[in-house]
Amino acid sequence: MNRSVLFSDFKIITPHDDKPVSVLEHGYCAVVDSMIEYVGESKENAVSALEKSGHKDFFEYDGKNKILCPTFANAHGHTPMAIFRNIADDYSLQDWLFGEILPREDKMIEGDFYYGHLLTLAEMIESGTACVANMYSAGMITSKASVEAGFRVQQTADGKFCKDGKWFTDYANVKELMDYCDQDAKGLVKPSLLVHSVYLYPGEFFTDLKDLSKKCGIPVSVHISETVTENENCLRDYGMTPVEMLDKHELLSDTTVAAHCVHLTENDRKILSERKVWVAHNPSSNMKLSSGFADMVAMQKAGVRLCLGTDGAASNNNQDMFMEMRLASFMAKGTTLDPTVLKAEDVFTMATRNGYLACGFENCGIIKQGMTADLQIIDYDCPQMWPLGNPISSLVYSCGPKCVESVMIDGNFVLYKHELKTIDLQKVKAETKRTMERLK
Ligand SMILES: [Zn+2]
Repeated sequence: MNRSVLFSDFKIITPHDDKPVSVLEHGYCAVVDSMIEYVGESKENAVSALEKSGHKDFFEYDGKNKILCPTFANAHGHTPMAIFRNIADDYSLQDWLFGEILPREDKMIEGDFYYGHLLTLAEMIESGTACVANMYSAGMITSKASVEAGFRVQQTADGKFCKDGKWFTDYANVKELMDYCDQDAKGLVKPSLLVHSVYLYPGEFFTDLKDLSKKCGIPVSVHISETVTENENCLRDYGMTPVEMLDKHELLSDTTVAAHCVHLTENDRKILSERKVWVAHNPSSNMKLSSGFADMVAMQKAGVRLCLGTDGAASNNNQDMFMEMRLASFMAKGTTLDPTVLKAEDVFTMATRNGYLACGFENCGIIKQGMTADLQIIDYDCPQMWPLGNPISSLVYSCGPKCVESVMIDGNFVLYKHELKTIDLQKVKAETKRTMERLK
């Protein structure tokens, strides 16, 4: 498709770093290659920005009854787990993970990671998501698949292995992914270090993980305080909460993405705020696995940085960020008995700009000149969104994946008028069906 695009007469909705979410009623946005060159109300200025960049034969996208907004950045997922969709439901987290998921994961082969990842990316693209923090092993396979699909990912590198019941770190495995990101990932993949949780490894191994984290200098990706059981066991074994335990091992910083954080003490929130940790809230997964209700309002008050995730398809069972925005807001309102908390613009910012920041893509998630063009087009000419009313409310409370008409990542259309441009969905569906039949 054309690398210079004029988005013409759209409602442009975007978060900002220094002011509330804004709505431009009749907005024009000029994109050249991967960059946004103009945003404003003047078509003339938008055209002139395109022409100045040497792009006279730009493509014009008509914005009648359409919204242009940043794509979502899903701050917590396990993309290959799409192959386990709907095969292990209605279990507790402990039974689900140890009884159903881990034994199947042991049998996964290369193609399972690849096609499972692509299946999730297809679902994400069709629901307006352009970026995911993917916590899973086989990072090289899924990273390469992401680049093929033109999709952004913060991908975990698995820097450890277990032999004869003893855990060892594996710097070479992390370095391989770090080098790939530096040299071949076209800026679409960033590495992070997989530190699954406080409960999967013995206590003494956390000193090794700390050393590995320092040596690699990349963000840490971890689950924290997902369940009451996790907290109780951590207190029993270490005399401290998971947040305190990870902080003691210097694994919390301003690049850490901590999923869940459902059961926190006031001191935990203080630590997460001071360390500027990104907390990825996963409302669907937390409710489905009966983990509980993360107190987002208390975290917001404590100054904790918040973003939003779906978790994997085995515990959600879809990757729809519209649903997560809606649930995050409703859950906060329902649990605090206060309808004014976690407003539409709060969760929209969590799902877009904050998600990108958490994943390490600082130049994405805001529609303004000089930012990278990760954009989605919403068609609100449908019963679900009509009449539009407040456009920010409409995105969070009314919209859904079927209203997503097109998605642009890094200036490329990966979905154009409901058609996937970079993923062969029929092939991916056939391969993942075969995998599910083998593993179920
Ligand atoms: Zn998870």
